[in-house]
Amino acid sequence: DEILLNLKEEHEITDVSFKTWLLPLKVHSINGDTVTVTVPDVEFLGYIRKKYGFLLKITIEEVTGFECNVDFVVENQVPQEEVPKAQTGNTLINNALNTVSQSAIINANLNPKYTFDTFVVGANNNLAHAASLAVAESPGEIYNPLFIYGGVGLGKTHLMHSIGHFILKNNPNAKVLYVTSEKFTNELIDAIRNKNNFSPTEFRDKYRTNDVLLIDDIQFIIGKESTQEEFFHTFNALYESKKQIIISSDKPPKEIETLEERLRSRFEWGLTVDIQSPDYETRMAILRKKEEMEGYNIDNEVIKYIATNIKSNIRELEGALTKIVALSRLDNKEITVELAEEALKDIISPNDKREVTPELVIQVVADHYGITPLDICSQKRNKEIVYPRQIVMYLCREIVGTPLQMIGKYLGGRDHTTIIHGIEKIKADIGKNDSNLINTLDILKKKLSPQ
Ligand code: ADP
Ligand code: MG
Repeated sequence: DEILLNLKEEHEITDVSFKTWLLPLKVHSINGDTVTVTVPDVEFLGYIRKKYGFLLKITIEEVTGFECNVDFVVENQVPQEEVPKAQTGNTLINNALNTVSQSAIINANLNPKYTFDTFVVGANNNLAHAASLAVAESPGEIYNPLFIYGGVGLGKTHLMHSIGHFILKNNPNAKVLYVTSEKFTNELIDAIRNKNNFSPTEFRDKYRTNDVLLIDDIQFIIGKESTQEEFFHTFNALYESKKQIIISSDKPPKEIETLEERLRSRFEWGLTVDIQSPDYETRMAILRKKEEMEGYNIDNEVIKYIATNIKSNIRELEGALTKIVALSRLDNKEITVELAEEALKDIISPNDKREVTPELVIQVVADHYGITPLDICSQKRNKEIVYPRQIVMYLCREIVGTPLQMIGKYLGGRDHTTIIHGIEKIKADIGKNDSNLINTLDILKKKLSPQ
């Protein structure tokens, strides 16, 4: 611990770098004058050796008074590090603005909220985070280009901005530019047409003179030949002068079908990392972080409710929290699980992501009417059961498209004329504008397929 703390202070290592690279290091063994240190991931072994190996060696010598060699090995199956507790967003933003001029951030097109300090690291994104940090610490030196891919709302843009901020903080004179590939394309078109007083020379000046170019959502230039061509030249110009390029996309290079081969191979020259959907722990950590940043004070049960029900993407997760807070302020109500259910009823369905099958229809209809699936499939003839059973027939046909005979099988071996009769009965009631039935069908359909 003393060695690590010493290293951090003597060499002014930032908190995020310290937590990512140094804190996880452990002494594996000491043999003669060789100290062997374990590193959690094989992916970054080379980077850590190169970036911190020498610093570690001299710090060990300083602290212990013994000369040594430092060697690194990979630790097997390391348990996930606990997510570090972060500072509040606003102080971080202010800190960032104190040292880096506002205008540098604006010129680079960076969102002040998207920094490493506001980014929660979890199992779904730790490689992408580590790679981004490595690039931010050593732009143009190791992983060039850095290619980050993953689904919508998982943090790609956030990471790219974080890299930009980090580089500017270390080197306020660095020329950093973040741009979406859409903007790149539009500006290229303007330049070709000499529109908005933007000439092809100015276009090149703007894009080929950067120390760091971050180009987001590259999938949007795919298929546009002249843009790919121009991007190819921009890429080469930057790459040849050892400038850092960071690219994001929804897919890895090899799966982007209409990507020109020469671009594809260039994208694969550096390091490609992905971001996956967040697991439950990461969703909880992100919600807590957001709560802290915004100064909310929300019951743990409510946070759990959101983290349990919203799984696919982080933008939705944040949106859910905002929506709950907004509803509570609007109605002047305390934030409770009930309020959360009310606020999120359109987004959350208990059957989210389930495939709609006849069994699911039977289950959902039974739940709705407070009877059991067995009742529905039984031979019982009382109205309380016959009607829900007919609704099952109708929904299986309308939503799932189940063949009549199959519906009969699912419903305890009824023949297809019974099924036709049931479906006709429901259709007739809809035709009569039975509002009760129409509402019920609406709710059931939402429960079955939330989108
Ligand atoms: P993408 O570019 O992959 O579509 P974004 O970077 O725009 O996703 O992220 C969507 C939202 O989720 C942003 O508000 C971002 O700050 C937030 N977000 C994503 N990942 C994280 C994370 N790991 N920690 C904190 N916030 C995150
Ligand atoms: Mg994005």
